[in-house]
Amino acid sequence: MGFTYIESNYMEHKSISILGATGSIGLNTLDLIRKHPEKYTVKVLTAGKNIEKLIALTKEFKPKIIASANQSDFKILKKECPETQIMSVKDAAAVEADWTMAAIVGTAGLVPTMNAIERGKEVAFASKECLVAAGSLMMMAVKNCNATLLPVDSEHNAIFQVFDTKHKEGIKRLILTASGGPFRDWCLEDMEKATPKQAIAHPTWTMGAKISVDSASLMNKALEIIEAHYLFDIPSNQIDVIMHPQSLVHSMVEYVDGSILSQMGPSDMRTPIAYCLGWPERIQTSGPTLDFDQFNTMTFADPDIEKFKSLKFVRNVLDEGQAASIIFNASNEIANKAFLDKKIGFLDIYNIIEFALSNIDRYAINNIEDVIALDHDTRHITLNYISNRSTKVNYA
Ligand code: NDP
Repeated sequence: MGFTYIESNYMEHKSISILGATGSIGLNTLDLIRKHPEKYTVKVLTAGKNIEKLIALTKEFKPKIIASANQSDFKILKKECPETQIMSVKDAAAVEADWTMAAIVGTAGLVPTMNAIERGKEVAFASKECLVAAGSLMMMAVKNCNATLLPVDSEHNAIFQVFDTKHKEGIKRLILTASGGPFRDWCLEDMEKATPKQAIAHPTWTMGAKISVDSASLMNKALEIIEAHYLFDIPSNQIDVIMHPQSLVHSMVEYVDGSILSQMGPSDMRTPIAYCLGWPERIQTSGPTLDFDQFNTMTFADPDIEKFKSLKFVRNVLDEGQAASIIFNASNEIANKAFLDKKIGFLDIYNIIEFALSNIDRYAINNIEDVIALDHDTRHITLNYISNRSTKVNYA
């Protein structure tokens, strides 16, 4: 298991770094911090492009350091936030803080997250694409640097809460729940004509655009299988997925004696984030709580892996190893964006990933530079493939 448990790690007051502060996870984290000023001080905030939001957050939380992905934004940041130090995202990620939220979407978060891990403190981990692309390297860094990785993703956070680390041999399997996204009951013909707006309209969660499309294609669940494999050091054949459209049970651990332990809660990311922020204690959230009337609506069913091919691809990808995971992840990022930009249809996402997995050469992955190189090659080849296709998008 990749977690390092430090008995007396709890501190009265923690300094906080938020990588991806302007996104959905970043803002939910700040919402919790806003309610507990006696416990947390914001030290670092990073953004990608949304400078206006970063400026507003800087004025409110008064961090010592802020960062944005584009150097061209530094001038305006300096003008608007004269008291604050401005640096690159990867340098800001390396600044000492007691607790870091790693929530930069996609593999853009890879180097910043590694920099945060190398500080050897608590890292709440949301950026699943980084773990998919660099799982074994990242878990090795966690171990070597004595860092504590706290899973933010609601499924992995649920497992973390009920996982018996000391008696791992008693674990039979992990069961990840999946809402099934907006297209759970759609036929393939309708999915082919689905628009980005329909794909983003998730029935139970409010999230960023990329993860919402991944939820619609169940690529999100496929990435989560890989994420669970690395986080909990459990093989693919002991990680199952079950459809649970109500998103009340956030995942389960089945033990060899037949016991199944689950974590339940509202479909609100502030609950798993609060668990990570308060860990090893618990802190209050002001989000909704579960209503027991909802319990008689709960259903569970096997996923349709012929319709949601991502769940089929992922098993071979995991059997094959790190290079296949990099190609799987990077080709999905490109296909996801092409769909959002209306350049391809929804089902093309699967065709493009399948093309990448079948045609891109693998090589040995020994360090982060190798990960970045294969990620880069995959993006280049996948983009070329998309621009040379003559398929027209045919919305309903
Ligand atoms: P959003 O798209 O809402 O936010 C992404 C964040 O990353 C933003 O702050 C964005 O900055 C920043 N960013 C994007 N590109 C870059 C870049 N090149 N360099 C630096 N920063 C960058 O995503 P979410 O918050 O929804 O998701 C974040 C991560 O958490 C993803 O990996 C997702 O899979 C995972 N996750 C999300 C959940 C959710 O409920 N949202 C649940 C579980 C996991 P800006 O906006 O300024 O451009």
